[in-house]
Amino acid sequence: MRITLLAGGVGGARFTRGLRDHLAVHGTPDGEPAELTVVVNTGDDLWLDGLRVCPDLDTVMYTLGGAVHEGQGWGRADETRRVSAELHAYGLGWDWFTLGDLDIATHVARTELLRRGIPLGAVTERLCARWEPGARLLPMSDQPVETHVELVGGRVVHFEEWWVRHRAAVPARRFLQVGVEDAVPGPGVLEALHDADVVLLPPSNPVVSIGTILGVPGIRDALAATAAPVVGVSPIVGGSPVRGMADACLTAIGVETSAAAVGAHYGARRAAEGGEGLDVAGSGLLDGWLVDVADAGAVPALERLGLRARAVPLLMGDDAGPDGRTATGAIVDAALGLAGVPA
Ligand code: GDP
Ligand code: CA
Repeated sequence: MRITLLAGGVGGARFTRGLRDHLAVHGTPDGEPAELTVVVNTGDDLWLDGLRVCPDLDTVMYTLGGAVHEGQGWGRADETRRVSAELHAYGLGWDWFTLGDLDIATHVARTELLRRGIPLGAVTERLCARWEPGARLLPMSDQPVETHVELVGGRVVHFEEWWVRHRAAVPARRFLQVGVEDAVPGPGVLEALHDADVVLLPPSNPVVSIGTILGVPGIRDALAATAAPVVGVSPIVGGSPVRGMADACLTAIGVETSAAAVGAHYGARRAAEGGEGLDVAGSGLLDGWLVDVADAGAVPALERLGLRARAVPLLMGDDAGPDGRTATGAIVDAALGLAGVPA
């Protein structure tokens, strides 16, 4: 069974890890090994102290590779900060964006390989060879596409400056995808969508993670056209993001911070039975949308849009239950169930 995911950093990484581990223990619906492909957002990428940093690719790679700092959700476990302290002594680096020593080695390796002319997709494959993530990680594009944020007032900053330095507290007017007009989907991305048996949208940020991936010319159309069922998991639970500031991103694009509004924003691929008159239905991306039990009241309205919707607990815990089942595993079962391939 070929499963393709579109992912940002922490939400996408934790969901993909739960999916991989759940299928490894409980098997796939067809009994064949699962082939997981993760198309990862590179809109957060930036140059820092001469190094190419790819925050979401690294979060997915470290999480699937068992090296992530669990409490933080990103960066390396057992990290130290000696190199960045030295850089600061030279008056370099940004004091709001610190890189750990082990993490810096990843960025040095990536920058060196890019400098040799190797495209980001191939560089990522090379870095992942060490971590054995159990999934193929594909950057959304080999070309740099950076998310910049136009703040209210007109100043434009890199996404990471808005997110990390300002904690998204300065209202955003709009998001820009710098370089997107020259970008093409990374090698394998369109095939992974076309050839998938199931496409899953993990609970990643709908605006600056999944929205950014969908902005690369060709990807949205490939997702809309795939024969595979497409099922998403809401990152919004009970009217707030589970972690992070996705609400600030949704507000900037005029979408309410609710599981129902995000589901409607992605939209239904097929119009509801007897759903004539609902002009928003039938031109979207999703067949199914999972919401948390706190948002169960939204299910009938989502179904009227033409989505298969279900409410299940959507908090991804780490703790395995007595039978080895995890919270994320239960979410995976529900998502595959909505996709019509229950385990
Ligand atoms: P980022 O690039 O590190 O911001 O990560 P993503 O875009 O992949 O994911 C961020 C989103 O994950 C946030 O909007 C969170 O609300 C969501 N998220 C994080 N943990 C959970 C969880 O346990 N359950 C659900 N449903 N969403 C989560
Ligand atoms: Ca990110």
